[in-house]
Amino acid sequence: MADPVIIGTVALDSIETPFGKVKDALGGSATYASLAASFFSKPGILSIIGKDFPKENIEFLNKRGIDTAGISLGDKTFRWQGFYEFDMNEAKTLRTELNALESYKVNVPEHYKDAKYIFLANIDPELQLEVISKIKKPELIVMDTMNFWIEHKKGQLLKTIKRSDILILNDGEARELFGTPNLVKAANSALKLVSKAVIIKKGEHGALLFTDNKHFNAPGYPLENIKDPTGCGDAFGGAFIGYIAKTKDAGEKNLRKAIVYGSILASYNAEGFGPERLKSLSHDDIGKRYNEFMDIREF
Ligand code: AMP
Repeated sequence: MADPVIIGTVALDSIETPFGKVKDALGGSATYASLAASFFSKPGILSIIGKDFPKENIEFLNKRGIDTAGISLGDKTFRWQGFYEFDMNEAKTLRTELNALESYKVNVPEHYKDAKYIFLANIDPELQLEVISKIKKPELIVMDTMNFWIEHKKGQLLKTIKRSDILILNDGEARELFGTPNLVKAANSALKLVSKAVIIKKGEHGALLFTDNKHFNAPGYPLENIKDPTGCGDAFGGAFIGYIAKTKDAGEKNLRKAIVYGSILASYNAEGFGPERLKSLSHDDIGKRYNEFMDIREF
């Protein structure tokens, strides 16, 4: 069985940062999320690729224990081109080519349907909603999104948010979606829509967790060596759901730990171009940074 089930994009990314550039690198929200989740559990991807997608990428995902049976084959792979300036907290999109995604119909393999945990990574909110109806008895639905969908499909996006338990979004998206500069107000608006919690990511400055009566603030890891933040948000969400699927505990205290694991995977991901750093990451690396996070928080 695959658990968590992760729907999102599997992409070919062309990225430029002040520290270098890559063309047609393995990317996509489901890719980063499932890679991060694979350190804790056995994720299964739902997505679509094209005939132009290198098969070594699928082999690499499989080697990490990621189930790719839910990846359909279309004509041309989703492509994203973006760049970062010196403030690497914000990706600037140059081009989004939906390609096969435009006619993608979600096809959920039988052995995904008993999954208890769903991560709706960044993709068309209509597709995200469809997945919810195809998993038999999900216990926790965590949803991510980005400005592209806020601007293009806001009505549909709000419908999907209402079916989710936890919404993850970054600070800029929270302001844009809820029309307020104040993150606490944005979180309170979001809490009216979801059943459990809202997480607002603040790039390198950490993440905030809001539940009905509690508030937690995870620090960012002070990274000196950032090369490419692409996929950090997805790695955050993937590690978050992966850790919850492993521990089978969505209580508030465990959500805090899951956020710390999310921050750890995101911080490592930024150290290399594309998902490069996640390829060489070990459980020891994760444990080491977990201890450092505990140290940073103590006062
Ligand atoms: P992140 O840096 O975590 O926000 O996500 C970066 C990844 O999102 C890249 O690998 C892109 O391929 C993917 N991506 C970019 N735009 C979109 C979009 N509109 N929908 C889904 N995925 C996207």
